[in-house]
Amino acid sequence: MSHPSCIMNPMAEAPAHLSPSSASAFDQCPRRWKFKYVDRLPEPPGQAAVVGTFAHEVLEHLCGLPAAERTIDRAKALARDLWPAQEAADDFIALELNTEGSRAFRWQAWLAIAGLWDLEDPATVDVVATEQKVTADLAGVPFLGIIDRLDRIDERLVVSDYKSGTLPRVRWREDKLQQVMLYAAAVEIAEGEQPETARLLYLGQQSIDVTVTDRKIEEATGLLSETWAGIGSACTTDEFAAKPGVLCGWCPFVGECPEGRAELTRRHAAGKLPSHAPAAALVA
Ligand code: SF4
Repeated sequence: MSHPSCIMNPMAEAPAHLSPSSASAFDQCPRRWKFKYVDRLPEPPGQAAVVGTFAHEVLEHLCGLPAAERTIDRAKALARDLWPAQEAADDFIALELNTEGSRAFRWQAWLAIAGLWDLEDPATVDVVATEQKVTADLAGVPFLGIIDRLDRIDERLVVSDYKSGTLPRVRWREDKLQQVMLYAAAVEIAEGEQPETARLLYLGQQSIDVTVTDRKIEEATGLLSETWAGIGSACTTDEFAAKPGVLCGWCPFVGECPEGRAELTRRHAAGKLPSHAPAAALVA
């Protein structure tokens, strides 16, 4: 399914590929998606995201080593080796951390890295690939994803995705599971073999495992196709509906969005705006 009308419309050009994070962003709020993917407004990542990126990088290097070398001491050494580059990265500098803040950052990152051992001993894992880029046509959608890890367990392929954030409540997990199911669908096309399991590794917390089936892949790719059609339609009409809700409190573009600011004001007046939401300061 292509979107020629988007290409003809200079106001909103559809992306060449759709990633799970882009699809999820559009589903959450098309207006926010437009700010990020069409207008390309700057979106400085918060500390949690930068911590997660650093932890991912260390684990990627660790799991690229021969199995016997994937020890916690080696992970510590890798974190030390990679730290100077992290400290010099724009995203990290933008956090403007002082010495104490930087120490807290490193500790958070280490808790995430060491949290892998709460879930598994990486020295016992048969790692096939790390940070594997996959592209595939999924139900007519040009899909692009980067898989944290592809393993073989008991001869069967397993797709694993690291998560350094807090384990979501059960009702919020479906969206994350869709993501790994799409990875499994793309792997099946690329490798000619359907993975047996897709896993969300919530570092230091819990592994959420789901058996891959044709039906689940069909559901996930069907939803992806609906999202892609929604993006095409929004691009054609240049209408990106705002979906105000509690997430406006965490939206970096709320200053550009009248509906979002009205939502913040309403929630603040009703006592329903969490004080830790970054945007809460705008209405305090
Ligand atoms: S402030 Fe709320 S409604 Fe506006 S773009 Fe952000 S998430 Fe969407």
